[in-house]
Amino acid sequence: MRSLSIFGATGSVGEQTVDLVLRAGGAAAYRTVAVTGGQNVVRLAQIARDLRAEVAVTADPARLDELRALLAGSGTEAAAGAEAITEAADRPADWVMSAIVGAAGLAPGLAALRHGGTLALANKESLVTAGRLLLATAAAHGARILPVDSEHSAIFQALGPDPIAAVDRMILTASGGALRDWPLERLAEATVADACRHPNWAMGQRITVDSASMFNKAMEVIETREFFGISPEKIEVVIHRESIVHSMVAFCDGAVMAHMGSPDMRHAIGYALNWPDRQRLPVAPLDLVALGQLTFQAPDLMRYPALRLAQATMRAGGKVGAVFNAAKEVALDHFLDRRIGFTDMAAVVDRTLDRLLAEPGLQNDATSLDEVLATDHLARIRADEAAKTLGRKRAG
Ligand code: NAD
Ligand code: MG
Repeated sequence: MRSLSIFGATGSVGEQTVDLVLRAGGAAAYRTVAVTGGQNVVRLAQIARDLRAEVAVTADPARLDELRALLAGSGTEAAAGAEAITEAADRPADWVMSAIVGAAGLAPGLAALRHGGTLALANKESLVTAGRLLLATAAAHGARILPVDSEHSAIFQALGPDPIAAVDRMILTASGGALRDWPLERLAEATVADACRHPNWAMGQRITVDSASMFNKAMEVIETREFFGISPEKIEVVIHRESIVHSMVAFCDGAVMAHMGSPDMRHAIGYALNWPDRQRLPVAPLDLVALGQLTFQAPDLMRYPALRLAQATMRAGGKVGAVFNAAKEVALDHFLDRRIGFTDMAAVVDRTLDRLLAEPGLQNDATSLDEVLATDHLARIRADEAAKTLGRKRAG
């Protein structure tokens, strides 16, 4: 029987993974090793019971007693804290879903790769923060990474067996997010609620706000560079309002292969779960006639400065991706806590990059998790300073 673990099981991607595993037979089809979550231990315990997991881990040590009580008599062990999550990733499983949000997903992802097997990677922050380290760890241990971000799953499928050398461009599609039709001059006033009204996709709150600012696409551009090893100038972003084409590969002979489907993450999650086979999935069939038309337009860099910042990050190379991701996470925290405005998020990342680009050694690739974490830590301090300065300006 195939074994699996789900990191971030209580989140948007995690829940959809649980759904697909249950539909495929649940505990009768898969041996579940570990499931992890955050504050919602009631839901985590339910998932652990449904899948008959060996261990359930909450990120929050203050919730351990509650989790233990909820799991009483189930046969599932309870654990808590960041270290316990990484220890859970140290328990070998054939297939591991990495769906924690943020840089917190990196350490468990690396631990899972050291056991070989397959890492289904939704946690784009690990590739942006430590892409080379992640791929080198997979290569050293004979592990495979399958992309779960819909764009990268689409590119992976469109690429098929063709070599990267035959690729002219990888074209990422972007919906434009919740504020795509707002006048530019009003963007600074956008609230958290405004930024959370995504036109097409139902996702976690953080990635939904990142879609409105295009920091999500900016992360995905870097993710594309890291995962497929393609040069930055061959990566293009187009606004595609309908979110039907999930991304495309343009080959040297002029052929363009697109992955199409309804905007439903279970396409990408299910593909990674069943790879190299394909199984029937509970996704709505695509009705092209009902859709009528698909539209494409160039992104406006004034509206989406995050795309320009991603280019600067890739040009700088080395550990700058870790700076970009950390600064973006801090900026997002400040925006979600209503301490800075929507357009201040890009300013925080811009200032943090500016301040840290001259830092010695930053242009060199990270060779260890500790090195990545040190860069992440420093970038968070600088980004926090930048956000506080901008927040004071806003309040004053
Ligand atoms: P989410 O916020 O809905 O869920 C995140 C999960 O991680 C939850 O289980 C939460 O409890 C857990 N978590 C949060 N902080 C943690 C921490 N510090 N330590 C351990 N666990 C923690 O997020 P999501 O939208 O499901 O996204 C998960 C990942 O997948 C992100 O990297 C996101 O960018 C990526 N992704 C999501 C979607 C989507 O449709 N939601 C699409 C593509 C990629
Ligand atoms: Mg995506």
